[in-house]
Amino acid sequence: MEFLREGKIGNSILLLKYFECRMKDLYISQHPRENWGNRLLNVASIILPWILMAALALRGKWQLTPTAATWIVFAVFFGSTVLGVAIGMHRYFTHHAFKTSAVIKVILGVLGTWAMQGDITRWVADHRRHHRFADKQFDPHSPWFSDSGPISNRFLGWFHSHMGWMIYGRVSQPERYAPDCLADGSIAFLSKFYWPIAATGLVLPGAVGFLLGGEGEMVRCLFWAGATRVALLHQFTWSVNSFGHIFGNKVAGSDSEARDNVFFALLLLGEGLHSHHHARPTSAMNEPRHLDPGGWIIRGCERLGLVWQLR
Ligand SMILES: [Zn+2]
Ligand SMILES: [Zn+2]
Repeated sequence: MEFLREGKIGNSILLLKYFECRMKDLYISQHPRENWGNRLLNVASIILPWILMAALALRGKWQLTPTAATWIVFAVFFGSTVLGVAIGMHRYFTHHAFKTSAVIKVILGVLGTWAMQGDITRWVADHRRHHRFADKQFDPHSPWFSDSGPISNRFLGWFHSHMGWMIYGRVSQPERYAPDCLADGSIAFLSKFYWPIAATGLVLPGAVGFLLGGEGEMVRCLFWAGATRVALLHQFTWSVNSFGHIFGNKVAGSDSEARDNVFFALLLLGEGLHSHHHARPTSAMNEPRHLDPGGWIIRGCERLGLVWQLR
């Protein structure tokens, strides 16, 4: 103000620039080491399942065609991991849509980490930044805007929101977006030990397979219920960020280009009802309820006394 009164326009512009930088600093990290560390973690999480699949397939020693046992193990691990992402990472850790016990919190955290989509704190910070800026500048994964402004090319926009943002995007400051996660001992522990926990999600299906059918079944379960499960769920989850902000129906009250998409709703326990979710982000249940299996599970858990204070 002093600068303006004295007519020192140059100084006031500098001052505005300073505040703009400080604001950006709060939204996204300006530290190259932090940003590159985040990108490395993302890229490693993305390609590791593919490396594991390639290693098992190229060895040529094992029959990888799934048996009935492989399909059952796949279904159990796929279902648990979807639950960890949809109900754990998203509705519980990010939006606090319900309350639960310390034990259920840790179970949801482990299942969510098995999805290999980054640790809980990073996941929560990115998703809260997504809601904070919903299809505007600084939304980490919008098909319409990047951190630097509008994206004019539709294919590049889709790619950016689908997976590009994880490869070249910037860290969402956890101090700003996820202070509750940093302050919570169990979430901080699960976030710190991301890699060992994610590894158990790959190894455990193999161990179950070994008990069911020896070495051959172990490798099949490792391939399908371990690596393929993670790679598939990556694509499905990212599709809510990309296709789910382009194709489908918009509901009244949504703050963005988010869409309700029946296909992804059924695949991801109702998470594809994304326009409804943007209209009521903290709601434990999405509408229409008959397309929201995640909501039924939360309601069922409430009846069993496992969760309470649904929002
Ligand atoms: Zn969204
Ligand atoms: Zn959300």
